[in-house]
Amino acid sequence: MIPGKELLVKCPHCGEEKSLSQMLSGNNIGAEQWSDLREFAPMCPQNSPVQKCPKCGGYYFLSRLPKDSKRNGEEFSSFEQGWLSFEEALQAMKEIESPTEEEMLTLYILAVWAYNDIVRCCRWGEGEAPTESQKNEFLALVTGILQDKRILQNMKDIKNMIFAAELNREIGNFEEAISILSQYNSEEDLIEYEVLTSTKVRRWWGGYTTKYGSEKRYKKGCREYIVKAILAKAQEKDSDIFLLSQ
Ligand SMILES: [Zn+2]
Repeated sequence: MIPGKELLVKCPHCGEEKSLSQMLSGNNIGAEQWSDLREFAPMCPQNSPVQKCPKCGGYYFLSRLPKDSKRNGEEFSSFEQGWLSFEEALQAMKEIESPTEEEMLTLYILAVWAYNDIVRCCRWGEGEAPTESQKNEFLALVTGILQDKRILQNMKDIKNMIFAAELNREIGNFEEAISILSQYNSEEDLIEYEVLTSTKVRRWWGGYTTKYGSEKRYKKGCREYIVKAILAKAQEKDSDIFLLSQ
């Protein structure tokens, strides 16, 4: 991993600059992927697509910022990635105006990940288990996501399909999770993915990355593995998030 100079981003609400990490190059050594599709890659850290301003507390999408609101700073030492807490992610969903469908999906994913981060940290011995109030808010969040026709009606979209299945599994709707995953067809996945990745592919949570043939097959292999793993846990009626390993 080669760290780059800090990335300075300007808050669209008050103009305050925030310093974020930026990599010149990274790799996936030591990367962990979880069943909720959260990835921790210590050698390739990623900034949260939604940031909270440290001054005014406003939330904003990095992808919405105009070019002149981002610049390289002088410091090499920024490791800030700006991931939101569960409460912050729920607040961002309320405050960010007119999100597109893609942005709404990102906000949902961030809120789910933030709740599951509480569970992950607890398992790592780094914090308390979720409170009853947080559990109830999570259940309400997931129920709301699964009723949002804008996002989850189209189950041909593989990211929606896997996400919906995992959400159902996490709240104990095991039959629904199994039913959704039964629609996954790995041959169709390859065809769709090859079309999408002819040059660049949109990453699941926003941002772009260039894909090459071997990586395409690797990612498809990952999805096949994820589908099988989530299916197996749903059949065991296990709702806990879990670490995927290959
Ligand atoms: Zn601000």
